[in-house]
Amino acid sequence: MNSAKLAAKSHPDHQTIVNLSEKVAFGGTELVIIGGPCAVESAQQMETVAQKLSAAPVQALRGGVYKPRTSPYAFQGMGEDGLEVLAKVQSYYNIPVVTEVMSISQIEGITTHVDMLQLGSRNMQNFDLLKALGQAGKPILLKRGLAATIEEFVMAAEYILSHGNPDVVLCERGIRSFDNYTRNVLDLGAVVALKQITHLPVIVDPSHAVGKRELVAPLAKAAIACGADGLIIECHPEPEKSVSDARQALSLEDMVNLVHSLKPVAASVGRRISEDMGAGFKPAPLCCAA
Ligand code: PEP
Ligand code: MN
Repeated sequence: MNSAKLAAKSHPDHQTIVNLSEKVAFGGTELVIIGGPCAVESAQQMETVAQKLSAAPVQALRGGVYKPRTSPYAFQGMGEDGLEVLAKVQSYYNIPVVTEVMSISQIEGITTHVDMLQLGSRNMQNFDLLKALGQAGKPILLKRGLAATIEEFVMAAEYILSHGNPDVVLCERGIRSFDNYTRNVLDLGAVVALKQITHLPVIVDPSHAVGKRELVAPLAKAAIACGADGLIIECHPEPEKSVSDARQALSLEDMVNLVHSLKPVAASVGRRISEDMGAGFKPAPLCCAA
């Protein structure tokens, strides 16, 4: 293995805490559950998501505004208008937001609007982008490449760390294999290994790993049971109508139920899900009020 100088765990208790907000941090006893749609589609959609997930509660919201789509003819994301939506939801509901960055030119706009930048699987070895994220000044959610080895994944994190940003969270999101029954294969062995060999927080994305909503909840539980520091899960007010990744989107009700069902699993491995996140949520409508 290439030697990771900065990502490597130096002793068993070596654990980095990545702060997302005053209340939310990755890597401690409390888990971080991130929920939201694959793509930001409208202010109304994100408002509904924020209101419903306040009941869970989740600790952060997700939503892509720059989407890496297989087809150039598919919806590419709302772009800057979507960033405005995320910023409004974040400040009104007092909840951190996460969105994907696809190019160096997007970094400045994204960092002024959101709390965490997601580097997607398709860009895990975009080395210039990794270097630039070292200077972003915000936490990075680094997703494992579609067919990246654990070593390649750790060295991608090393790029960000070595360029000045200590706040990196790793995300296992499934890897390509021969079987197409599930979209990818969730590599929980990698989660355990990454927790052992690095000091970085590790979260799991069961949605992109399996690609089918009925498989998401059991794998979310398995991820927490094996030591993940959190989850990122796609959900939508009308899952079948999602403009992207509809097949894997949970309903908001199922997302709330999932968060509740994770609590005993978390407790069994000495972790907990914060109960007081809801305090920051405001009940009235924000962006779409007449
Ligand atoms: C996403 O989170 O919507 C996404 C595109 O994820 P990944 O990069 O893991 O495919
Ligand atoms: Mn998606």
